[in-house]
Formats: sequence, C-alpha cells, structure tokens
Amino acid sequence: MPRILLVLVLALGTLSACASDPGAQEATSPQEASAPMERSGPSVLVITAHPDDEAMFAATMYRITHALDGNVHLALVTDGAGGYRFSTLAEPLYGLDLTTQKVARQELPAIRKRELEAGGRIVGISEYFYLDEPDEGKTENADSVMQHVWNTTRVASRLDDILAGHDYDFIFTHLPIKPFHAHHKAATVLALEAVERMAPERRPVILGSFPTGGMDDIVAQFRELEGFPITAIRKEVGPWTFDRSTPFGTDDRLHYGIIANWLIAEHKSQGTMQLFMANSDPGTERFWMYALNSASSAEKTAALFEAVQAPPHPF
Ligand SMILES: [Zn+2]
Repeated sequence: MPRILLVLVLALGTLSACASDPGAQEATSPQEASAPMERSGPSVLVITAHPDDEAMFAATMYRITHALDGNVHLALVTDGAGGYRFSTLAEPLYGLDLTTQKVARQELPAIRKRELEAGGRIVGISEYFYLDEPDEGKTENADSVMQHVWNTTRVASRLDDILAGHDYDFIFTHLPIKPFHAHHKAATVLALEAVERMAPERRPVILGSFPTGGMDDIVAQFRELEGFPITAIRKEVGPWTFDRSTPFGTDDRLHYGIIANWLIAEHKSQGTMQLFMANSDPGTERFWMYALNSASSAEKTAALFEAVQAPPHPF
C-alpha cells in the first residue's frame, strides 16, 4: 500500500531529486547509509526545543512513516531539564524527587530522552540528534535565550552538520507565535537560519506548524515574529493540514488522535502535557510555509499533504 501512495507522491513531483534519484543516495552520510532499512518516501527533519514538542506533529509524522514509507528524524535543542514543575505524578513511577530542581537537573535529561524515544517509536522517528542546550530561562524573549542561555554558535554548527549529512525534503518547526515560550521561537529561528546558510538547490522545504485547538486567533494573525524577519510566512498559500479525526477501522470508530494521545502518554514526567490529550475533537495539524522557501516549494508541500491525507487509512 505505501507504494501506491509513493507513486502518487512521485507523480505530483513531491520528492526532491536528492530523495528520488538513486544516484544521489550514494552521497548520503555514513549514518544514513547504515540505517537498518532504506525508505523510499519523503525524508523529514523535525527541529524542536523540548522533548514533547513533537506531539504537535504526531499524526503527520505517523502518516509519513507508516503510509508514505518516509523517514522522520528529530533534532532536539535543549536537554529538557527544566520540565520538572509538573512532574509530581511521575515521582513514584521513576522513584525520584523529580519536582526538586536539583534532582530534576540531574535526572530529567535522561528520563525525557527515554520518553521522547518511546513516543518516537509510536510515530516512527528513526534518528535523534541531541544538542543538549540548557533548558533554562522561562521567558517570551527569543533574543535573550539566544544571547544568554544557549550557545547559538554550537547549535548552528550542529544543525549545519545534520543538514549537510542528510538529504531532507522537509523540515518541521513550531510556528513562532509571540506568546510562545522563547525556546520554541529560538529553535525555529535557528532552524531557519541554518536553512538560509545552505545552497538554495540543497534546501529542504521548511514549514512552521501549529495545531487547532489553542491560540487559534493569534495563529490566524501570524505574519512573522517581530524582530525576526526570517520567520515571515507566505499567507497566499497554505496552510496545509492533516485532520487527526480522519476516521478508519471498524465502523470508523478510530482516528489519529489516538496516535497523538499515545505519544503524549509517553511523556509521563510532563504532567500538564497530558492535559493536551485529544478528546472528541482531536484537532487538525496545520503547516505554513516560510517566505524563505523557493517558489516551487508550495507545489511540493501541497503534494506531500495530498499524499498524507489520501486513503487508505490508517496505512
Ligand atoms: Zn516546549
């Protein structure tokens, strides 16, 4: 079945020359060459700030890996050590006083990586890049995070290496809306800057995402993050979407909100994250195109989402 969708994707011209040309694959990195299974679908890099941010794209990642035979990799900017304030229910589970800052700083990075990878197994993430910047400084000011909290030179260099070593077709980031945690915004800005440093013909299409169900008015008004013109999006195209409530299974009783819930449930150290569980309206994952992308990127993105949405469901 994935083959059928792949044909559709190819017919629509979604895949870049790099991913669809067998000759180009010889130039992939040793890391990719040693991957256990060569996949023929779209190749995606997700760039996020914290373990659990990837929940925002859960159903789309699942469709790409399970229905389109694609690859999803994830680059995580922080070590996640700051997420201890709502870890109460995970304390007996892990046998640690996780809500104590000192304990959390020591133990949470490893715990959260395990949680991330447990969720990643559900949606099909096959490779992780841990940048381990400090998960500190709760602020809305992305500038202050980049100047005082993270080593942005190190982040830039890691992202450059990751992008140079792989032929990604797409990069998924958080749409950097103003009221968001600065880490999310800074991770997106650094991702965009990394793409901008690439030769235009090698650039993946980079998209900003935000699901329905929260801050809908702010998201609808988003044009760019003030002070960061690189974050400007194209309003005349998109957003491209995947509806988590797309039904399947016996009597159409199942939907992709279940996948998002499974992923969220793996982040047991993140108490408030559990409150984002999909309910009767599991919402829609939405993706906008940054203006940085080339003119042909809209067509390529449209073809990707047409394939992501296309039956059969779930596979
Ligand atoms: Zn986050």
